[in-house]
Amino acid sequence: MTATSSSAKYARFIRALSKGYAAFLLFALAIIPAFAIAYLVIFQNPELLFEHHSFHELAIGISLLQGAFIAYVTYQCYLRTKEPFLCWLTLAFLGFTLIYAWHGVFTRFADNHMMLFILFGPASRFVMACCLFIGLLSYGRANQQQRATKTNKFWWRSIGVFIGISVIVFLLALSNWAHLSRWLLELAAMGIMLTCAFIIILRRIPSPLITVYAIAVVYFALSSLAFMLSGVWNHLWWLAHGIFAIGFMALSYSVIQGYLTTGSFSRVYSQAQLFEQLHAEKERTNEALLELQRAHKKLEIIAATDSLTGCANRRGFETQSLVEISRAERSGTPLSFLTLDLDHFKQINDEYGHSIGDTVLKEFVKLIQKTLRPTDVLGRIGGEEFALLLPNTSFENAMSMAERLRQLVQDEVFVIEATPIQLTISLGIAQYGPDGETHESLFKAADSRMYSAKDLGRNRVVSG
Ligand code: GH3
Ligand code: MG
Ligand code: MG
Repeated sequence: MTATSSSAKYARFIRALSKGYAAFLLFALAIIPAFAIAYLVIFQNPELLFEHHSFHELAIGISLLQGAFIAYVTYQCYLRTKEPFLCWLTLAFLGFTLIYAWHGVFTRFADNHMMLFILFGPASRFVMACCLFIGLLSYGRANQQQRATKTNKFWWRSIGVFIGISVIVFLLALSNWAHLSRWLLELAAMGIMLTCAFIIILRRIPSPLITVYAIAVVYFALSSLAFMLSGVWNHLWWLAHGIFAIGFMALSYSVIQGYLTTGSFSRVYSQAQLFEQLHAEKERTNEALLELQRAHKKLEIIAATDSLTGCANRRGFETQSLVEISRAERSGTPLSFLTLDLDHFKQINDEYGHSIGDTVLKEFVKLIQKTLRPTDVLGRIGGEEFALLLPNTSFENAMSMAERLRQLVQDEVFVIEATPIQLTISLGIAQYGPDGETHESLFKAADSRMYSAKDLGRNRVVSG
């Protein structure tokens, strides 16, 4: 085993250990209230009471304000994303707020009608648990864009249902089933909240908001447990309120994070997920950049190439000419410059047609290119006029090269569409140094000599 593979294994082990420890920390965070509950159950005198109606009313008032606000924010998230999960989360906050309100309203009845005061607590938690549970089942399901969005009627009807439930709770509180229903509702709330937590663990949902959500539902379950173990107004009872409030605020925090970012619970990502996405995005950007560079190169070539003959066009030739001129300047090597023009080309067009004329131009370029060195550059300057750069070529060599080309073209029979065609060229030569040191001056000198060749009867080379 090599040192690198064993250190990679060690790194993987530490990573796995860290992941496990992080999971343990979340678990510990979720069950911390259980220790506080156990502490009060074991060590606290359950007869110790803190019966303070105004304080209770104030606490409930604050929690109702929070509940109403967070229900509204969740509703806004739902409107943005149409996620069914957010619809149920809105209902959970709304239902809790509307039913729990009565627990506050009936605070002053605590002494005479205990159940009227108490029963709305477990009922609100039960309703909230049911909504959270249904919402969780729909988590990750496609949004409702295709289906009809919940209308205002739906929300008013839901409010009506929650008020209806409150009336039922009111009647239950006055009935003989009040005590039984208190236990059943609290037990059911606890069971459903725990089921929610198990569903999240089993589904291994990787969203950071859902992690907070899972901790919140465990807190709700533990608060129900504390309510069941407590007596009204004793310390455990107040602790149960506190545990529920922490869960409620944690869940609210999740919603706010969703609201401030994507408006969705499922599309707020953990840092690890974000880094993964960033990495993938970077790869894509690099790939696109390479593609762009390739396309740019292709375009550069296209822009510098004559589409008919495939040799350099005027622009491409000029660019290369400047490169060769500066090379000649630096190195002191000779550089020769030729212009060549097809003689009486118009006649070929007139006689055989423009399309055959085109083919002649293509074949002519092929013929010339066959005789050139890789460093020589042929460019089409205009219609049937070309220029040739001959780097590292003395004036004498350029003259013999020009003569060779003239001879080559004169001897060639272009057979195009079974038509034999012959042509000649006139050439002019210029030399870097004596005829100038710029592209323009070299071109001008070679061109004027080429025209002299024309004047002298064509099919010839003029070098000075
Ligand atoms: P000269 O010996 O004086 O150069 O005579 P010429 O007929 O070659 O010269 P002139 O400038 O009178 O005519 C050039 C002809 O080249 C005219 C034009 O139809 C033809 N030509 C220019 N570009 C093309 C092309 O791309 N395809 C074809 N088929 N013909 C072209
Ligand atoms: Mg011509
Ligand atoms: Mg011409």
